[in-house]
Amino acid sequence: MATTPIQITCGSCGSTDVARDAWANWSTAEQRWELLTVFDCARCHACDGATTLVESILPITRKAEAGHD
Ligand SMILES: [Zn+2]
Repeated sequence: MATTPIQITCGSCGSTDVARDAWANWSTAEQRWELLTVFDCARCHACDGATTLVESILPITRKAEAGHD
C-alpha cells in the first residue's frame, strides 16, 4: 500500500459529502474532463454551504487478515 488512506469530512457537521472548488480541462484526446487543479475553497453538501475540511487517517483494514469468526 503506497499511500495511507484518509477520510475528509466537514468541520461543522462531520459529513463526508464534501467538495472543493476545482478546474477541469477538456481533453480532446481522452474525450473527457480531466482534473487540473483543486482549490482551497471547500463546501459541504449536507450543510449546504462553505466549510472547513478535516482530514483524518482511516484505520488500516486488511480483509485478508481480518479473521472474522
Ligand atoms: Zn457539513
